[in-house]
Amino acid sequence: EAQLKIDGLQKIYDNKVQVLNDINLEIEKNEFLVLVGPSGCGKSTLLRTIAGLETVTQGKISIAGREVTKLAPADRNIAMVFQDYALYPHMSVRDNLAFGLKMRKRPKDEIESEIMRAAKILDIEHLLDRKPSQLSGGQRQRVAIGRAIVRRASLFLFDEPLSNLDAKLRTQTRIELADLHQKIGATSVYVTHDQVEAMTLADRIVVLDGGDIQQIGSPMELYDRP
Ligand code: ADP
Ligand code: ADP
Repeated sequence: EAQLKIDGLQKIYDNKVQVLNDINLEIEKNEFLVLVGPSGCGKSTLLRTIAGLETVTQGKISIAGREVTKLAPADRNIAMVFQDYALYPHMSVRDNLAFGLKMRKRPKDEIESEIMRAAKILDIEHLLDRKPSQLSGGQRQRVAIGRAIVRRASLFLFDEPLSNLDAKLRTQTRIELADLHQKIGATSVYVTHDQVEAMTLADRIVVLDGGDIQQIGSPMELYDRP
């Protein structure tokens, strides 16, 4: 069964701007799906409806076999790495990672072992006692991804997570992300306008334009045609 299933999704803003016409999509467990398309084509809108940050005008969204169309973001078992999911500046890296689990009143030893698991995967063990202001852009990005990892979510959602990084860090973090995907095998939807990111990260690429899916296929199928 699909880990994410989208049926007949339509989104019209304020009863006038139709952004998504009729999106149908299934993502398999552990699949990394990259969403591309021209600016303003609705990539962010699609991601935000999956996250529950936007209501849908019509259609259904299911995650891990459960319909979530009307559920709040916190009840969807998703992990987001969005640009607006900033780190808490007054908290250490450790506390930033622990925050969501503390809110959920998880036992202390479980929180500690989740933090160590994420820190190890991301190679940020030596940064746990620092504040965000004492980190580089790339390190902050890794902590933001770490906050998603500790959630053990059914679905990871990324909205241009590398776009604020300079070229060098962008490449490095992209390679880390690909590696991470291998290690934790998380089902992911990743929005980008960067073709290199799409080619290197995607199992499948979805090209969105004019409110519909124009193309869908592996990077080879989409970009390597003679
Ligand atoms: P992309 O992520 O592909 O750049 P968006 O999903 O951000 O595209 O936007 C798609 C379209 O929806 C754009 O025309 C944008 O202006 C419009 N839009 C986005 N958010 C809103 C909103 N809250 N209210 C009205 N229109 C919006
Ligand atoms: P939940 O209610 O799903 O257990 P938490 O208690 O872990 O959520 O987090 C508290 C709030 O912060 C929730 O509303 C959750 O949606 C949000 N949150 C924090 N970090 C993330 C993230 N990386 N991805 C998604 N939601 C997050």
